[in-house]
Amino acid sequence: MGMKTDFLIIGAGIIGLAAARELKIRHPDSKVVILEKEDMPGRHASGRNSGVLHSGIFYAEDSIKAKVCSQGGRALQDYCLTHHLSIQKVGKVILPIEENTDSILRNLYERGKKNGIPVNLIDEKELKKIEPEACTRTGEALHLPEVCIVEGVEVVNQIAGELIQKGVEIYYNQPFVSADLKKKQVKSKGDQISYGYLLNAAGVYADKVAHSFRVGRFYAILPFKGLYYSVLPSSGLKVNGLIYALPNLKFPFLGIHFTKRLNGEIAAGPTIIPAFGRESYGGLQGINLFEIPSIARHLLSLYAADHQNFRAFVWKEGLRFIKTRFYESASVLVPALKIEHLAKSSKVGIRAQLVNLQTLQLVTDFLIEKGENSTHILNAVSPAFTSAFAFSKLVLDQAGI
Ligand SMILES: Cc1cc2nc3c(=O)[nH]c(=O)nc-3n(C[C@H](O)[C@H](O)[C@H](O)COP(=O)(O)OP(=O)(O)OC[C@H]3O[C@@H](n4cnc5c(N)ncnc54)[C@H](O)[C@@H]3O)c2cc1C
Repeated sequence: MGMKTDFLIIGAGIIGLAAARELKIRHPDSKVVILEKEDMPGRHASGRNSGVLHSGIFYAEDSIKAKVCSQGGRALQDYCLTHHLSIQKVGKVILPIEENTDSILRNLYERGKKNGIPVNLIDEKELKKIEPEACTRTGEALHLPEVCIVEGVEVVNQIAGELIQKGVEIYYNQPFVSADLKKKQVKSKGDQISYGYLLNAAGVYADKVAHSFRVGRFYAILPFKGLYYSVLPSSGLKVNGLIYALPNLKFPFLGIHFTKRLNGEIAAGPTIIPAFGRESYGGLQGINLFEIPSIARHLLSLYAADHQNFRAFVWKEGLRFIKTRFYESASVLVPALKIEHLAKSSKVGIRAQLVNLQTLQLVTDFLIEKGENSTHILNAVSPAFTSAFAFSKLVLDQAGI
């Protein structure tokens, strides 16, 4: 190909697409190219998530997540409305699932109020009116009435279509292979592309791409599998919106939750199971034998160090692929749920969770690292879908482009 571009983006997930969109707003006459290894946008995390536009209430005030989540959520909501995409305001309840967690719930409530997030502290009676099946351990819960759900694939397809109209070139089936930093060139399937500035938004492979640029050497991505179940309509259970447990805020994951999907289906999940492949969605699909040793090594190091209670986490969450263990977690939120109400869903997602190899901890916040003429988005975990429009502005500001 031997082509030249002002900006080159690796990855056509929500982050790469949102960054391209923002670049076209800031530099309308510039040439923007996206390299995507799949045949369409959103084949990975962006098209396989719960589709919840999070409020931002869970994130520590000094975090990037807190800075961009609610702003990004509002921007994405506006985007969906403007472009007539599927969106529904369903609201979310957050339930304490352990006794003596009243103070954590109340702190979250105060934090939400302070940050202008629409949130109500409700008692059990009010909870039953909103979500009749939901159960609180402390007699209180939080209700976030404004929370919306969207359809990930629809959103990324819309953004990609809009980008093409604005002259952005998206090359599908074109994986990034290697980089020549001196020449400011990357190789993709034998073709060379010269770039002015490069953004790495390669999701679960962002660490690998970054390492080619000598960036993020002390970080590696660990994949965590998110399995979902569908709650059968014959269960007669009524879920009106989103039912979440009060999470352990030291951990980057929100646990199994109930989601009413846009098609009316009730989904439970996703799990957080360490996966032995970055794209191992099921069976042999996506299993890469070369990846297994390094994934196993990183898992063992985290297990040995046991920061953030990693061992307990692995034993608790790692076995949720067993239906009874999944049910155990889901039925805490909805006690009337019976195991036979759950049918395995074909929907599976993989979380691209970054590990700090020096501290042996899971990185909880988004992480951006700069290289020479390049910026690498290394930890675009949840709520990166919600945050994408605001987060991409922050990425470009930090990159000075
Ligand atoms: C199960 C699950 C549920 C979630 N629920 C929510 C939710 O409800 N709300 C929310 O806000 N967030 C949620 N998230 C998180 C959210 O989906 C992700 O944070 C977000 O989609 C990340 O976007 P991304 O563009 O970084 O990654 P991706 O969507 O994975 O995109 C990365 C792209 O890079 C491409 N790529 C990789 N390597 C290369 C290469 N070498 N060359 C070229 N292209 C390459 C990939 O093919 C892919 O298309 C969830 C995630 C999961 C897994």
